[in-house]
Amino acid sequence: MKVFKFGGASVRNAEAVKNVISILEKFEHQKIVVIVSAMGKTTNNLEEIVRAIWEQNSTDFEKQLAQLKENHLSVLCDLFPEKSHLIYDEIDSILEQISAMLEANRSDNYNYEYDQIVSLGEVMSTKIIDAFAKEQGIASEWLDARKLIRTDNTYREGDVDWKRTNELITQTVLPAFDRSEILFTQGFIGQTPEGFTTTLGREGSDYSAAIFAYCIEAENVTIWKDVPGMLNADPKYFENTVKLDKISFYEAIELAYYGASVIHPKTVKPLQNKNIPLFVKSFLDPEASGTAIQASVENDHLVASFIFKFNQTLFTFKTRDFSFIVESHLSDIFHRLAALGAKINVMQNSALSFSILVDQQKVNALDVVEAFKADYEVKFNDGLELVTIRHYDQATVDLVTARKEILLQQKTRQTARIVLR
Ligand code: ASP
Ligand code: MG
Repeated sequence: MKVFKFGGASVRNAEAVKNVISILEKFEHQKIVVIVSAMGKTTNNLEEIVRAIWEQNSTDFEKQLAQLKENHLSVLCDLFPEKSHLIYDEIDSILEQISAMLEANRSDNYNYEYDQIVSLGEVMSTKIIDAFAKEQGIASEWLDARKLIRTDNTYREGDVDWKRTNELITQTVLPAFDRSEILFTQGFIGQTPEGFTTTLGREGSDYSAAIFAYCIEAENVTIWKDVPGMLNADPKYFENTVKLDKISFYEAIELAYYGASVIHPKTVKPLQNKNIPLFVKSFLDPEASGTAIQASVENDHLVASFIFKFNQTLFTFKTRDFSFIVESHLSDIFHRLAALGAKINVMQNSALSFSILVDQQKVNALDVVEAFKADYEVKFNDGLELVTIRHYDQATVDLVTARKEILLQQKTRQTARIVLR
């Protein structure tokens, strides 16, 4: 048993859907759970719909709904020339359900409403791809991930109940494999014990793949993407990126923690726990080797990886009475920061000061000043850049710091973190 995950880009139009099927055809007679995201930019489209409903903005609502319909119907027309095909009714009924929502009664919980609507992107994409696979003669089956992934009611960030999920998945998937080789199901979505839909956080389909793989003890997981594998930096910010051929689970978790965005951060841990290798491969070049994420650490040091975070704010706190920064101050500072909801990217202390780096958009600098000013002198700089280099050496540090001012620098044996202006 294997698990594949196809993201939004890999099913963004009819051509792309056909390509997915051609990849599955290469794995004939294998049992594969295929996790699929919403098509293309559908999730953003649905988010806009939720916002329009919330604001009761019928103009935006109609505009976004028209977009959603157009995108899905054009894929259907391409894939199913026979207009009497049942899939048309199925997709129509979901689109109808969404159309009715502007006028429908609502709860006052935005996140709840969001999940009920945004989850439908994955429901539609999987229905379409399953119907098309069947047309192509693939013995496939559609599974409803809402009935399989059990979460609590933290809408938009559902926390998985692993015990119940494990029971539900094994009870359903294993018998389904006796009937069908390919099981299509949705990424990103689950359900509360009361039967309300939840989502697992944006880009959560990778995590769904890991959940399924963990529960069925899959032989491996493949995430099919539009890049050749995991690269050592985001090509948007870095020339001459290199593919990482093989890295450890540990390294992948570290990279995701520091902000590398190739795989969803929660994905690797469950796979590591059961030692299930994860491959990141290109759906444009399925024969190419991609990246293997697995237990062995032997290759981790071969290539330096770079993770960039922009729009950072550096705050420095000093006590007003010139006392040294000691544990009681630190605990007080953390309390105040936690109350502000600040998430710290880097921190550093000296005798008389304590500095933290945070995402500029996530905290209001003036709120921080306000919360601290009675007891601390607060200075801040914004518009900064944080570069994390895994497996750094002097040359890689020089490369990223050239012509820039270094405001703060931290080095451990494997990782250099540098705040630049
Ligand atoms: N469709 C969802 C999103 O775009 C989940 C995913 O793609 O992983 O966030
Ligand atoms: Mg997506």
